[in-house]
Amino acid sequence: MTDSKIFGVVGAGTMGHGIAQVAAQAGFDVVLVDLSAKALDKARAGVAKSLSRLVAKERLTEAESDAALARIKTSQKIEDLSDAGLVVEAVVEREDVKTKVLSDLDRVCSPDAILATNTSSISITRLAAVTSSPERVIGMHFMNPVPVMQLVEIIRGLVTSQATYDAVEQATRRLGKIPVEVHDAPGFVSNRVLMPMINEAIFCLYEGVGEPEAIDSVMKLGMNHPMGPLALADLIGLDVCLDILRVLQGGFGDPKYRPCPLLVKKVDAGHLGRKSGRGFYDYSS
Ligand code: NAD
Repeated sequence: MTDSKIFGVVGAGTMGHGIAQVAAQAGFDVVLVDLSAKALDKARAGVAKSLSRLVAKERLTEAESDAALARIKTSQKIEDLSDAGLVVEAVVEREDVKTKVLSDLDRVCSPDAILATNTSSISITRLAAVTSSPERVIGMHFMNPVPVMQLVEIIRGLVTSQATYDAVEQATRRLGKIPVEVHDAPGFVSNRVLMPMINEAIFCLYEGVGEPEAIDSVMKLGMNHPMGPLALADLIGLDVCLDILRVLQGGFGDPKYRPCPLLVKKVDAGHLGRKSGRGFYDYSS
């Protein structure tokens, strides 16, 4: 990793804006890039709201909140990441989009910069292979909501260097997170375990076994989950869940990962969960 204090984030959606927030709170100068100006505006407003909640809870001072927000610059140009020491890409869970972003980063960033991907499921080895130096590519899988969740799954590709791993482990701790290393396999550990459960909950709804509230209450009250699987799917984004299930299904070639037709239908209808105002629950109010 270079000595640069600049932390780049590509993709300013659910995850990207949270990653930008924790990096800014940790003292990094953040450059947050997205194709969409609307997404960047929404991300800045989301970070401001999240920081003000921390101020209200007296976990941050007003001055610290202002300073963190001021450390986040937004841009629609990937070239603005040329001075970053570490870049985390958090664009949509599509291999074609991610390979394009990573090859652009490979071109614009310094040769010493680390290129991390927040992919939930796609092979790090395959993503790294589109760059000229796959040894500096690594999986850095944050959990949602980023400011709240402690875990970052760290995944090496086949040729990720030890120096890259060490720098990312150190950066993760600096962000106040706990790194856990797992190996490169579809969905890693988190989504290989989580997504089949969410998919099965959607099948329960699809087959009329229970209403959403009943399915979620069973898992909350019976299994002590803080959130039911359908509410969690709405938080993650139903499009993201579908993309991950398709990676699991393709990667393992096992029909047990087939996405429930109701999930496909919801995504086709644009009911993506919280981010679109409607998923298994209604968030319009
Ligand atoms: P999202 O749909 O909320 O945001 C994606 C953002 O990427 C959008 O703002 C979009 O405009 C932007 N984008 C798309 N193509 C781009 C490009 N070429 N250059 C720049 N920006 C581009 O998605 P998300 O939920 O934040 O997921 C992002 C990544 O994080 C995915 O890989 C996902 O699997 C992973 N992830 C998601 C969660 C979750 O709970 N949502 C948790 C962990 C990891």
